[in-house]
Amino acid sequence: MRARDPKKRSKDFKEVALGLTEKQAVKEAKRCLQCKKPKCVEGCPVEINIPAFIGKIRDTDSPGALNVIRQYNMLPAICGRVCPQENQCQGRCILGKKKTPIAIGALERFAADYDAKNSSPEKPVQIKPNGHKVAVVGSGPAGLTVAADLAKLGYEITIFEALHEAGGVLVYGIPEFRLPKKIIQREIEYVKSLGVKIQLNWVVGRTQTVEELFEEGYKAVFIGVGAGSPKYMSIPGENLNNVYFASEFLTRVNLMKAEQFPKYDTPVKKAKRVAVIGGGNVAMDSARTALRLGAEKVYIVYRRTEAEMPARLEELEHAKEEGIDFRYLSNPKEIIGDERGYVKAMRCDKMVLCEPDASGRRKPECSGEEFILEVDQVIMAIGQTSNPILVRSIKGLNLWGAGYIEVDENGASNIPGIFAGGDISTGAATVISAMGAGKRAARAIHDYIRSSYPA
Ligand code: FAD
Ligand code: SF4
Repeated sequence: MRARDPKKRSKDFKEVALGLTEKQAVKEAKRCLQCKKPKCVEGCPVEINIPAFIGKIRDTDSPGALNVIRQYNMLPAICGRVCPQENQCQGRCILGKKKTPIAIGALERFAADYDAKNSSPEKPVQIKPNGHKVAVVGSGPAGLTVAADLAKLGYEITIFEALHEAGGVLVYGIPEFRLPKKIIQREIEYVKSLGVKIQLNWVVGRTQTVEELFEEGYKAVFIGVGAGSPKYMSIPGENLNNVYFASEFLTRVNLMKAEQFPKYDTPVKKAKRVAVIGGGNVAMDSARTALRLGAEKVYIVYRRTEAEMPARLEELEHAKEEGIDFRYLSNPKEIIGDERGYVKAMRCDKMVLCEPDASGRRKPECSGEEFILEVDQVIMAIGQTSNPILVRSIKGLNLWGAGYIEVDENGASNIPGIFAGGDISTGAATVISAMGAGKRAARAIHDYIRSSYPA
C-alpha cells in the first residue's frame, strides 16, 4: 500500500498509509482465486465472506462489496487499517504459500473508504422495537458491535461510556496517523443511525451500579470495559519524573490533543531522547508519537528479537522507515534519575534467547552483560490489565487471572443477564477479537431475553 514519505510524515499526525486507488484495488481483486473452500474466511475472527466481497470489487461494485462486509463487520474502515491481517485472513490465503497473499485488509479498507467518499451520511434506519432494553458498558469495538447487532434486532440500547468520547482504544489509544478520528466518528454515526444511544461521562460501578441498571428495566447488561490499567515492570526508578505509562501518554495526545497545548488544557512532556519499552502495537504507537512530538532519538527496547515481536508487520516497517532505533535482546533493569528526580538514563541487561516459554516464544535470559542508554523520557508499553472499578462492584461475579471476567464461549458470565466480551474477558487482545466477542454475545443476549421474557 502507498504510504507518505517517512521524513515528512514523522513530523505530523496525518495518516501514513494512503490506501489503494480504484485501479489498484480492482487489479488486486482480480488475483483472487475465489477458492471453493476459502481458507481466508477461516482466518477471519468474524468470518467475513471474503471471496464474495473481493468478487464485487473485481466487478467494480464497491458499494456491493461494502454490503457484503457489513453483514459480518460494522467497522470495516477501522479493521481494514488496524487488524493484524498477516496473522489472520491474509496469513491463511492460499496464494501466500507460493506468492504474495491477497491484500485482504487493504481491499476491505478500500471498500469502506470508497463508500465514505462517494455516499451521503447515514440516514436513520427504521427498526421495529421489541420492547426490551439492554445496557452496554464501554464503547470500544466490543461494545459498539454488541450494540449494533442488538439494535438491528429491535432492542433499545444505551451504551454507557466513562470517557467524554466514544470509541475506546480506537480513540484514546491508536494514534491519528494510523487511524484518523473522522473514520471512527463515521463508524460510530452508523451505530447511532441504528437508534443506539450513547451516554458519555458515565462510569458504571461509580456513577451507577449494574444492579441499578437492572432496577431501571434493562433486561441484560453487556460489559465491554477493556483492559486499560497500567502494567509496570517494578524496577527502580519507575517513579521518576518523565516515566509514562503508554496509555496515559497516548491518551494525552490522542484524546486530549496535548501536542497542541496550551490551545488544549492537557500538557505532555516533550523529550529529546526517548526509550519505549515493549514490542507490541502500543510500543510502536508510543515511539512514533514521541517522534512526532519532536524527539531527536527514539529507541524501542525489547527483550526478545524482531521475530518474536507481537506488533503488526506494517507498524514495524513504518517505525523502521521513520528512524526508530530498535534495541533487541535488551531488558531494562533500572531507570536512573538526576538530582531533580528526572530521568537521565536507563540501565539494561543484554539478553539471550533460550527454550520457548508458556507463550511458545523463546524465553529471554540475562547474558551477564549490561549497557546504559542515555534518555530523558521512558514510556512503559509492556501491556495493560483489567481495571477493577466495575468488576469489583458486582457481587458474586466470577473472575479469572488479574481480574478478567470469566465467561462461556457466548460471553455469558456466571450471573444470569450479565454478559462480557473483548479485552475484559480475554486480556489485552485485538480489535477484531473484541468485535467477534461482541457478535457472539449479541446472539446469546437475544436468546437469553427471548427465553427469559417470552412474548
Ligand atoms: P476498549 O477498546 O478498551 O474499550 C473499552 C471502553 O470501556 C473504553 O472506552 C473505556 O473508557 C470504557 N470503560 C472502562 N471502564 C468503564 C466503566 N466502568 N464504565 C463505563 N465505561 C467504561 N488491536 C488491533 O487489532 N490492531 C491494532 O493495531 C491495535 N493497536 C493498539 C494500540 C494501542 C495503543 C492499544 C492500547 C491497543 C491496541 N490494540 C490493537 C488492541 C485493541 O485496541 C483492543 O484489543 C480493543 O480495543 C479492545 O476492545 P474492547 O471493546 O474490549 O475495549
Ligand atoms: Fe481469495 Fe486468498 Fe481467500 Fe482464496 S484464500 S478466496 S485466493 S483471498
